[in-house]
Amino acid sequence: MSSNQNDVVFFDENGLRTDGRRPDEIRPMKIKIGVLSRANGSCYLEWGANKVLAAVYGPREAHPKRTQRAGQAIIRYRYNMQSFSVEDRARPGPSRRSSEISKVSREAFEPVVLTDAYPKAAIDIFVEVLQADAGTRTAAINAASLALVDAGIPIRGLVSACAVGKVGGKIVLDLNKPEDNYGEADLPIAMTEDGKITLVQMDGHLTPSEFEEAMELVQKGCRQVLEIQKAALMEKFVADGNFDETVE
Ligand code: ADP
Repeated sequence: MSSNQNDVVFFDENGLRTDGRRPDEIRPMKIKIGVLSRANGSCYLEWGANKVLAAVYGPREAHPKRTQRAGQAIIRYRYNMQSFSVEDRARPGPSRRSSEISKVSREAFEPVVLTDAYPKAAIDIFVEVLQADAGTRTAAINAASLALVDAGIPIRGLVSACAVGKVGGKIVLDLNKPEDNYGEADLPIAMTEDGKITLVQMDGHLTPSEFEEAMELVQKGCRQVLEIQKAALMEKFVADGNFDETVE
């Protein structure tokens, strides 16, 4: 968050944002499930100018053996930003930021994955950010959620993620890069299908009432994302003939 936010114009005379969106509108999302043949499940997702690729491997025997848990599978999540994904080259390899994102993203999935079904196993989720434009951790979670389904891993439901923020004094959904750079707050969340929040982070400042407004709006954003995820699953599995829509 920058201190020169007062110099930036976030809305036009019609109240629309720099990219033409309304305050409660998310960026366009495109999804392709099952793009990698060597992974058990995969998903390529574009959200605005963000481009991410998720791959899921497992359940498979966890190595090293000391990481195994007797009664359940472990989930591992690696978020990685390619050096070419940002304007100025990002330093390759793990960073504090990527470790933190990997940790909170793994925790976002723990309540939904039926890990008890696979003792001593590991479920590995890898996400590569190919192009970044603010909102990569939420884009990554949305892609990972679909890659888990594609891998056939039993889950209680999808996880959907979206960010909300404050720019020019207004609460807006799904910040783009200028909004993220010059806005006053950014608050990514992840949510299960039944409305349980599994990730909340916040950068910047909101008053308690702004926080409430933001939480309400971002849950609407997650539900919009969920509909797009479900549509992508229908397209993939109906197209592949693996899904029978008729109920006997
Ligand atoms: P998120 O991508 O989840 O919004 P951040 O708020 O940390 O995460 O980052 C916002 C944006 O800042 C990223 O999407 C990316 O465009 C840019 N960014 C993040 N890390 C770097 C970096 N190391 N180098 C250059 N740009 C970065």
